[in-house]
Amino acid sequence: MTFPIEKFLARQTCGNATSLMSRSMKVILPDETELELADDATGLDAAKAIGPRLAEQAVLVRLDGGEVRDLREPLDDGARIQILTTRDTQDPDALAVLRHSAAHLLAEAAQRLFTGTRVAIGPPIDDGFYYDFEFPEPLTEGDLGRLEAEIKREIAEGRTWDRCEVEPDEARRRFEAEGEPYKRELVDTAEGRLTLYQQGDFVDLCRGPHLQNTTPIKAVKLTSLAGAYWRGDSDNAQLTRVYGTAFYSQKDLDEHLERLEQAKLRDHRRLGRQLDLFHFSDVSPGSPFWHPKGMVVWNVLEDLRRSENVRRGYDEVRTPLIYDVDVWKTSGHWDNYRDHMYFFDTEAREYGLKPMNCPGHCFVFSDHLRSYRELPLRLAEAGLVHRHEASGVLHGLLRVRHITQDDGHIFCTHAQTEGEVIECLDYAYFLYGLFDFRVHAELSTRPEKRIGEDAQWDQAEEALRGALDRQNLEYALNEGDGAFYGPKIDLHVTDALHRSWQLGTIQLDFQMPERFGLSYVGPDNAEHTPVMIHRALLGSLERFVGIVLEHTGGDLPPWIAPVQARVVPVADDHRPAGEALRAELTELGVRADIDTGSDTLGKRIRAAEMERIPFVLVYGDNEAEGNTLAVRERGQGVDEYPRAVALETIRSAAKL
Ligand SMILES: [Zn+2]
Ligand SMILES: [Zn+2]
Repeated sequence: MTFPIEKFLARQTCGNATSLMSRSMKVILPDETELELADDATGLDAAKAIGPRLAEQAVLVRLDGGEVRDLREPLDDGARIQILTTRDTQDPDALAVLRHSAAHLLAEAAQRLFTGTRVAIGPPIDDGFYYDFEFPEPLTEGDLGRLEAEIKREIAEGRTWDRCEVEPDEARRRFEAEGEPYKRELVDTAEGRLTLYQQGDFVDLCRGPHLQNTTPIKAVKLTSLAGAYWRGDSDNAQLTRVYGTAFYSQKDLDEHLERLEQAKLRDHRRLGRQLDLFHFSDVSPGSPFWHPKGMVVWNVLEDLRRSENVRRGYDEVRTPLIYDVDVWKTSGHWDNYRDHMYFFDTEAREYGLKPMNCPGHCFVFSDHLRSYRELPLRLAEAGLVHRHEASGVLHGLLRVRHITQDDGHIFCTHAQTEGEVIECLDYAYFLYGLFDFRVHAELSTRPEKRIGEDAQWDQAEEALRGALDRQNLEYALNEGDGAFYGPKIDLHVTDALHRSWQLGTIQLDFQMPERFGLSYVGPDNAEHTPVMIHRALLGSLERFVGIVLEHTGGDLPPWIAPVQARVVPVADDHRPAGEALRAELTELGVRADIDTGSDTLGKRIRAAEMERIPFVLVYGDNEAEGNTLAVRERGQGVDEYPRAVALETIRSAAKL
């Protein structure tokens, strides 16, 4: 294939730069053997040296178990290399290079089908890829099919990716001549030499890596359209984002689409309606209206939080929602968080609605002079906070403006910090375990922009690390990702659909105690500043309910289900005995109801199933005459039990 860039550019290095020099380098293969290669050899050269079949199937090279590189880039002398191939169908990097290449095919298709289309950026993302375009005419959902067909045509025809490095001036001239303002702007903000990738007659400014050719792309699908601002800034031009995904096999795509279908069925907004738990209304965007059954779920979580807090030595407090704006200036929220807060004036005084509970707890601490004997002081509150989120990003219970945190602040001495963090971790893992979540921890350390002395940071990071080690927890390290006031541990859970959610956070803070002038009298009779630990474990109760609904697909564990048992009398004659059974269950502490409706028995059983009620007791002649109960357990069949056994089984399942 000819390479038109060549005609356009003055200076460049295209294709594989196989060196003619006699110097050599070596790399180490996964089986520990060494491979000798010419100096400047690329990943593709290495693959070819191992075997022609491997070279054909190669998609990417991984160096020293980490960074991945385009096959056409030179390797590092002495590096350990792993050649990823079309058989690494689940490897995230192998998927990313495939999807990123599919994004370029999409851009080529868009420019061919819709003349005058300008291209912006097209990266791979978690489950696929997107590309942002400025189309001459608005695109419709129907156009997605045309674009997808065009991509498939390109794949059938076959494309090869050519890579070349250019100087910024050359790239700038190129994109100016092509009338591509977004690419031009990217050239201006990039550093050093740039790379261009070309397939067919489409050339993109791109860091890569890319596939060698289209052969490995066995399945591609465009999934949706969305609006997106150039560089994510609402002052910039609005672009159209086309989402898609690609796989190494049709089977993998089919499985992916099936998972998406599952996710749709498990959508908590849909389940919230179906189970009559809550609704949202435009009269108060981002704030759920909890229905009676939703409130049962809420209160069970609240009871759990409260009883565990007592067991773990927390003191419950309740602090105001509204504070003088000066409080937010002291806390730093005015400078750093104002855009997410609600402010208003009354009696010529300006107030802010709290977005966090911390200052309130600081005021409780500072209400009287504290002694070291009172530490650690653990204050807890199911704190209602409001945070302004743009209406476009609100998403059911998962992204709300009205947030109830299971918040807690621990005021302690430096020496107590590690022990307190261990307690917080133990508490969090206990809570997540109740819902069968898999948990993983991440430790975020000092960022470049920070306050406080290095010695303090050393001590704080050591405390968090020590707590994780003592709890034998594996964790990922996010260097430089801590808050400016202190390091933190974030706790993430993986749900039944293998999606990851951040729930808990445990943060050390040296700043706020100083800003609010907190102190305690130590054993030396001098005043000291306490350490403050912010921690929320479920995160926000709203979001937690949303995540649990999606995780369980609506089959809430019996102990938290709004209705735990339903009695279904077969005929009118069985109603009085059915009522008595319901009353007996209630007496045992089970949340039970009775369906005395006029629908057929089958319909009423089906309704109970739709409501995901854990236990359904059909009461008819058999039950009236014998001393047994027929128990229909959710997701399982019907079983006949001696009456006392049935009641005890339900009673114990209904309790945590
Ligand atoms: Zn690219
Ligand atoms: Zn806090």
